[in-house]
Amino acid sequence: MPESTTTASANIGVVGLAVMGSNLARNLASREGNTVAVFNRSPERTHTLTGEHPEAGFVASESYDDFVASLAKPRTAIIMVQAGRGTDAVISELVSRFEPGDIIVDGGNANFHDTIRREAEIKPTGIHFVGAGISGGEEGALHGPSIMPGGSAESYETLGPILASIAAVAEGEPCVTHIGTDGAGHFVKMVHNGIEYADMQLIAEAYDLIRRGTGKTPAEIADVFAEWNTGELESYLIEITAEVLRQTDAATGQPLVDVILDEAGAKGTGAWTVQNALDLGVPVSGIAEAVFARSLSSKRAQREAAVDLPGPDEAWSVAPEDADAFIEDVRKALYASKIIAYSQGFDEIIAGAEQYGWNVHKGEVAKIWRAGCIIRARFLNRIADAYADDPTLVALAVAPYFRDAIASGQSSWRRVVATAAQAGIPTPAFSSSLAYYDGLRADRLPAALVQGQRDFFGAHTYKRVDRPGVFHTLWSGDRSEIETTPSSH
Ligand code: NAP
Repeated sequence: MPESTTTASANIGVVGLAVMGSNLARNLASREGNTVAVFNRSPERTHTLTGEHPEAGFVASESYDDFVASLAKPRTAIIMVQAGRGTDAVISELVSRFEPGDIIVDGGNANFHDTIRREAEIKPTGIHFVGAGISGGEEGALHGPSIMPGGSAESYETLGPILASIAAVAEGEPCVTHIGTDGAGHFVKMVHNGIEYADMQLIAEAYDLIRRGTGKTPAEIADVFAEWNTGELESYLIEITAEVLRQTDAATGQPLVDVILDEAGAKGTGAWTVQNALDLGVPVSGIAEAVFARSLSSKRAQREAAVDLPGPDEAWSVAPEDADAFIEDVRKALYASKIIAYSQGFDEIIAGAEQYGWNVHKGEVAKIWRAGCIIRARFLNRIADAYADDPTLVALAVAPYFRDAIASGQSSWRRVVATAAQAGIPTPAFSSSLAYYDGLRADRLPAALVQGQRDFFGAHTYKRVDRPGVFHTLWSGDRSEIETTPSSH
């Protein structure tokens, strides 16, 4: 493209025109008031996009110089390239051409630690760097994603309305909010994905229990999920579960789910969620079990070696007359476990916000997940309400609505987990959620004994229930107790 044709006419630019960038650019161009500049390292992708979508009125460039020149000030560009080195390469090209006040947005799936680093590196130039988590995949990018931007409040003044123009809409509100500074957006997107893992695993466990307990076919279980989707479990994941279960394989005539290899893949954001939860000391057991369940499923050699290991002595099935009650138990167990998984996810957001100094509005996060993203669900309104009622809520599970929901489902939950254990059916997410719940509500935990053990072998000391101070028992001496630091009183 000759340089002379380049005028600063676009209010927003997109770099990276593979599937995500192309769809985001088309979404931007379809909204009133946006003129979209586009650029891709290899010009073929640019030609394809502009050739297939002349109606979008893209301002296309074949060099970074022309791309930057085509942007009106403050220049705003969204990078949608391969996360990692690709993102760093594009950032350095833009930083060398942008001016103070301009805005670079990374819309890829960056690790939030990278986003914090990049923001710190770019800040001295006066250019704003925004790490924006974008959820909803290809379809979301095209029709309206849920967007989680981090970065300066100042940059959000320019960027916010543009992102609001393309975001999904839930109950009249765009699914975008300023999450916090630097890596906050990518952190919250990471936790979103972790919750997604837990939700999917819980649904899969529910399906497995119903199938193995009642002998219903996948298509019949699809009807169960479709019915559940009319109630409190209403969500995108329940909806697509019914679709998947109803699908017949054209080649074999079998239910598709029976011909899909039972090894679940992962792209890594679930593992990031758990790794960071461990660093922050937040027990996200439901998410962790979901990540581990995928890992276990892929251990083919171990599974083959273990396939003859003994299970329960007696075969298990639900009597036909009890099938409906059992399915209702599973539904309630799923809902209670789901509450715990989300409660744990929000705990991680709270801990991350404290650790990294972000002022994250939990209720707003719940609201922007109501549409456009994979975990969109009716249930998120309840979370938003809980945080609106009490912004300092220490755990979602103790909010009145969730407390009541668990109270009405806990007998079912316990029956399902006990039944699964006796039947030899793995329910890591159901079981760990219940164990977490019982741990959370326990008046007294065996952590006291752990402290005693730690003091025994490592002189790690302990506190007492009856008076302040820090104590150690002389285990290898006369076993008398000494106070190791002065009491605060
Ligand atoms: P992708 O396959 O991840 O990346 C391909 C794009 O990156 C191409 O445009 C490629 O340019 C460009 N690229 C790679 N290295 C580059 C470099 N050094 N300099 C300039 N450009 C470079 O594309 P995608 O699937 O559309 O995904 C884009 C981003 O969105 C990724 O971060 C991905 O993780 C994220 N994503 C998000 C979702 C979601 O649901 N939120 C879904 C999918 C992907 P060339 O054409 O020149 O090779």
